Amino acid sequence: MSAQHPLHIIIDGPPASGKGTQSEFIQALMGVIHISTGDALRAEVKNNTELGQRAKIYMEKGQLVPDDLIIDICLNRLRQPDCVQRGWLLDGFPRTGSQAKALSEAGLVPDLFIHIKVDDEECVRRISGRYTDPVTGIIYNLTTNPPPAEIRSRLTQRADDREEVIRDRLKSYHAQYDSVVQYFQGQFVEIDGKDGIESTSKQIGNTIIDCILRKGKV
Ligand code: AMP
Repeated sequence: MSAQHPLHIIIDGPPASGKGTQSEFIQALMGVIHISTGDALRAEVKNNTELGQRAKIYMEKGQLVPDDLIIDICLNRLRQPDCVQRGWLLDGFPRTGSQAKALSEAGLVPDLFIHIKVDDEECVRRISGRYTDPVTGIIYNLTTNPPPAEIRSRLTQRADDREEVIRDRLKSYHAQYDSVVQYFQGQFVEIDGKDGIESTSKQIGNTIIDCILRKGKV
């Protein structure tokens, strides 16, 4: 589907605020192209590319990969025809002031900057129970979305989902927050993410409808 005035959205929040899940919801609702820099980097690591080998060192420690490894890749992806025609949803970028500046200087201005607010202890609780099924790629949570008993033994945990690494990822998120958000004052909307998936989706859906009505988009 190509839209006349496609939407451009940045979804932001600490690790485990639900950005991935809400991105699936937004993508299904609006048909925009979902770009997750975390997924893109994990694919590079899995394929053992040169970029993957460099990024892995930072990712395993819960640190941000250097700006020069990620900025051009992300900006080039946003200029591809599918993003131009259908609009985009950026998940995991920008994460530093320099990344936000590069986006803005490239003229890639979002219609909405959606910030999902969840406190740190809730993030730690959510992430430390998070496991992936390597066969299907489905992500489970041992407390909120338990896996079937027969596949439990094959589940794996992301190296950066261990508790000590999570705390570092949260610290780095908070350290960069102001320098990123300052670029998006006019598009900033805060969503309360503590009450779970449905409540968060509902708030995000309403925000997007408001934006469409305001801007006459899509
Ligand atoms: P995520 O799945 O979005 O939590 O990303 C996983 C990891 O990928 C992060 O902890 C960083 O090491 C790296 N990463 C993803 N996006 C970026 C970005 N925009 N800038 C720097 N590092 C990133």
